[in-house]
Amino acid sequence: MTDLTLEERLEEAVKTLKVRGVRMTPQRYAILSYLLETRSHPTADEIYKALADRFPSMSVATVYNNLKLLKEAGLVRELTFGDQASRFDGQMHDHYHVTCIVCGRIDDFEYPPMRFIEKEAERLTGYATAEHRMEVYGICPACRKAQEEAKQMAMVTAKAAGNEH
Ligand code: ZN
Ligand code: MN
Repeated sequence: MTDLTLEERLEEAVKTLKVRGVRMTPQRYAILSYLLETRSHPTADEIYKALADRFPSMSVATVYNNLKLLKEAGLVRELTFGDQASRFDGQMHDHYHVTCIVCGRIDDFEYPPMRFIEKEAERLTGYATAEHRMEVYGICPACRKAQEEAKQMAMVTAKAAGNEH
């Protein structure tokens, strides 16, 4: 499924919507293309800002409603984080995410789904488990670099200040 080109995936999406009796509008097409191309897991607001030039009459609410529709058709995923704005993902294959606690960036983390955790939950609780969520948090490479540079700068400054005495 992930081996398909962008065009092929969009063609598939058109078919999927057709089966559900939903028309692929230019806005839906643009939103889905944007989500399939980006790896940034944008919010509805970010998608709106990226496409506003091309669709001047489009509102954030329109983007959100289209995302909801695409989600219901199984074409996009919604990533919810408590009371923070949802982020959207066009990658439908099983994968995990790692989130930067400094800048909020989310990256894909490809790893085989850990079904054993569902089996264990089933064994320990008697639930018939269906799925699981796992979130990894940390500091992204760009923020690590910035922190390292800030540290170096602080050291240089401290050294320079020390030399003044
Ligand atoms: Zn970061
Ligand atoms: Mn993802």
